[in-house]
Amino acid sequence: MRAAGWAAAGLGAMCACASPGDRAPATHVADSAGATATATAAERVARYATVRLSADLAPLSAKERQMLPLLMDAAREMDTIYWQEVYPERDSLLASISDSSLRRLVEINYGPWDRLAGNEPFVPGVGPRAKGAAFYPADLTAATLDSAAAGDPALKGAYTLVRRDSAGRLTAVPYHSAFAAPTARAAARLRAAAALAEDPGLRRYLETRARALETDDYRASDFAWLDMRHNRLDIVVGPTETYDDELAGVKTAHESYVLIKDLDWSARLSRYAAMLPALQRGLPVPDAYRRETPGTDSDLNAYDVVYYAGQANAGGKTIAINLPNDEEVQLRKGTRRLQLKNAMRAKFDRILVPLADALIAPDQQRHITFDAFFENTMFHEVAHGLGIKQTINGRGTVRQALKERHNALEEEKADVLGLYMVSALNRQGELKADLLDNYVTFLAGIIRSVRFGASDSHGRANMTTFAFFRDHGAFTRDSASGTYRVDSARMAAAVDSLAGRILQLQGDGDYAGVAAFMDPTSRIGPVLQGDLDRLGTKGIPVDIIFEQGPEVLGLPPAPR
Ligand SMILES: [Zn+2]
Repeated sequence: MRAAGWAAAGLGAMCACASPGDRAPATHVADSAGATATATAAERVARYATVRLSADLAPLSAKERQMLPLLMDAAREMDTIYWQEVYPERDSLLASISDSSLRRLVEINYGPWDRLAGNEPFVPGVGPRAKGAAFYPADLTAATLDSAAAGDPALKGAYTLVRRDSAGRLTAVPYHSAFAAPTARAAARLRAAAALAEDPGLRRYLETRARALETDDYRASDFAWLDMRHNRLDIVVGPTETYDDELAGVKTAHESYVLIKDLDWSARLSRYAAMLPALQRGLPVPDAYRRETPGTDSDLNAYDVVYYAGQANAGGKTIAINLPNDEEVQLRKGTRRLQLKNAMRAKFDRILVPLADALIAPDQQRHITFDAFFENTMFHEVAHGLGIKQTINGRGTVRQALKERHNALEEEKADVLGLYMVSALNRQGELKADLLDNYVTFLAGIIRSVRFGASDSHGRANMTTFAFFRDHGAFTRDSASGTYRVDSARMAAAVDSLAGRILQLQGDGDYAGVAAFMDPTSRIGPVLQGDLDRLGTKGIPVDIIFEQGPEVLGLPPAPR
């Protein structure tokens, strides 16, 4: 899972959780940076600021420098596979396009749909995106899938494509056979890197991960990844997030991050993991909803990220990760949370600061700080591990009960419980900064995220949070200047109230209740839209894209 507000990895049809009558007019859903069906490719590309993914390599050993290009090679294979999962016709599409901006836009989006603008098609003649991307036959409905999966659970497996056999029956094709060639190349590069690894934990992880790619059995490598403690280099590689599957929310998409750990920051971060059990016991919700024990073997680390690939590199970019997603592994060992500090700082400087200049009340602008932003993002990730994973009424896991609505509500939970944690730790004196910094920076962050509309889990979550906070007086808007001001006391009360609401919906596995809660707020109102439109005219970027690779780090490519 990724940090809300900064992951705009868009998917599926716009306003997927709204009834058609509730959908905002297309010109409004089209995002505030000016996206409309008539935006030119050059205008759409200009919504991204280009950032060089560099890092300080001085602390690295000679072998670590040799490993980085090998890990980047493995990451590139995830790119190859990801295209197959979301847009297999890449080559023919690119061959048909001569305009360089349009080609670039296809590459940024991994297909002809604009992930920053409700997935509207931007190539003439292209229809709407299939809800199930290319994981399923394009005409497959959720109902048909459900009934077929009753007889063959592999059809809903996380690591299979669904295809029709010659008799027209649905069959599950394991990823490792569907993507055999790039999988073999990636595994070979991971093994070559493992041979150079000086840290035994990293070596074991790279070896088990290579095997996992070849078998689609990820559990051993997930445990090996959680067991690593002293590695400076790291890589997330393989099928990971389900955001692209809006048909059933189960198919994982391939991606990769190549990472260098920041040891100084990591020491500061590891301190908070030990506080999770106490925070769980203090959740503002009846006992029945806070009985689970969060994993305490979790850790938090800060990284500079030097390569994004596949799902991670599509459209908007994340700056924090919480993995693994396997809920059994989470219950047994917790998770690891990775804060991508260089990417985070780039977004803060290039996007959030200019946005806050325009939208936050002048007397509260000093509360927009990178430290607060870093904390909010960090605690969002921690908060995924808090709360409840099993329903309390026999409806199975929360994910099973809430189906395709789970992702958006879970992101909203992480946002709100993240703020709950910041508030609690602030009261305990663990965090020294002004709590108002966190609140004001959070508000600026969700307004920024709302720019993406409702086409992804995070955007949808933020629209619901924005509406809840507005209706509870957590912030007010000055109509003359169009700026927003946080009311600290009301914000604190609204955080507790919203946290309780979400945890009960999750614990009850209340699918209809989630719809009633989120659907009415899944559109941007005219007032906020007007404020967002002002940003469009200021030319503030919406997200970032990267210059990345060995050459950006001053390293030679890996020998073949
Ligand atoms: Zn998240």
